[in-house]
Amino acid sequence: MSNFNSLAVSELEALQTELKEKYEEYKSQNLNLDMSRGKPCTEQLDLSLEMLDTVTSNSNLKTADGVDTRNYGGLEGIPEAKEFFASILEVNPKNVIIGGNSSLTMMHDTVSRAMFHGVYGSEVPWIKFPTVKFLCPSPGYDRHFAICELFNIEMIVIDMLEDGPDMDQVEKLVGEDETIKGMWCVPKYSNPDGITYSNEVVERLANMKTKARDFRLFWDNAYAIHHLTDTPDELKNIFTACEEAGNPDRVIIFSSTSKVTFPGSGVAMMAASENNLDFFRTQMFVQTIGPDKINQLRHVKFFKNTDNLKAHMEKHASIIKPKFDRVLQLLSEELGDKGIASWKKPNGGYFISLNTLEGCAKKTVQLAGEAGVKLTGAGATYPYGKDPKDRNIRLAPTFPSLEELSKAIEIFCLCVQIVSVEKLLAEK
Ligand code: PMP
Repeated sequence: MSNFNSLAVSELEALQTELKEKYEEYKSQNLNLDMSRGKPCTEQLDLSLEMLDTVTSNSNLKTADGVDTRNYGGLEGIPEAKEFFASILEVNPKNVIIGGNSSLTMMHDTVSRAMFHGVYGSEVPWIKFPTVKFLCPSPGYDRHFAICELFNIEMIVIDMLEDGPDMDQVEKLVGEDETIKGMWCVPKYSNPDGITYSNEVVERLANMKTKARDFRLFWDNAYAIHHLTDTPDELKNIFTACEEAGNPDRVIIFSSTSKVTFPGSGVAMMAASENNLDFFRTQMFVQTIGPDKINQLRHVKFFKNTDNLKAHMEKHASIIKPKFDRVLQLLSEELGDKGIASWKKPNGGYFISLNTLEGCAKKTVQLAGEAGVKLTGAGATYPYGKDPKDRNIRLAPTFPSLEELSKAIEIFCLCVQIVSVEKLLAEK
């Protein structure tokens, strides 16, 4: 099939009839396929079962320094968890706080505390400013944007380029507006594009001049170890880059084992300068007596060392890589040279990000939904749910089986084609 853009009206009309017939066939099957969220599949969850079955039952529940994990205390996590997870975060254990089960909670709480109390070095709480703004590289993670909406933080869209956020835009904005207090970053295998920030981007983020002296990078390294190839992307260490730039307090790093062990029952973590952490500790002390230390301990006992962690992540990759490959293969077979969609092949992470022709994403997601294929809502990858070009769709291949996935993508590709042809016909 040739490029749709070069087809005559009569050819497009004939094609549309054919596509719609196929669509109706699928629709009559009353399917129920969900590709909307980046959830690990059952096989992936099974990889960590041993952690529940054996690691902590009946065994020593004391930490290396003799604290009983069953009891209260240990506000910032047990020492062996700090030590272990410091290696993922690529910082010194003294710069780590291990929290509860969710890094999103840590991010939410960090923003919330900053609004009410500022961050280390703030002259006034952020909320004292008539507006507080965050830079939001987009497409991005919808739940980051939801945190901003909750606190009435104005979001400014920053374009994502091939190697990370458009730094010319970023530097200009932070250099002139003291109400820009933060920026969301998913620096490795970004959600949804799968982009890893280049060294240059990391360095520019660390070095840029910010009008707000209490500006923070919210560095959500959720996919730090979630590779899909044997030649993983490399991300420059933001923590040392900020230190070297003379801005040691600029970055707050977040991560979790949600997609390593169990989403909802993993271990979340954050890392920052000692100044930042001291500031957080006094506030966290009021919020909680301590996190779930038993869960932290069983994670450390389960993995034992980083080699095991690496092997564990390779098992995840061997389960989900065939799914990514299948989606990419079908996209290229069904949409490859038709000039109606473009997408990226990620080296890791949980998503494939696809752009339709402008103005087609919402209709495509709706049409797929009517045929029983649930996708992430169009627009969700942009602040306020508004994709200015209405073209980005996030595909989450990990949860469905290969069979379900194939069917879902076939229907999806059909929907992309139907909506594109409709647009092309309307323009003729
Ligand atoms: N950050 C990003 C970029 C994510 O994609 C996700 C999960 N979809 C999270 C954070 C959520 O992490 P957690 O389960 O630790 O709250």
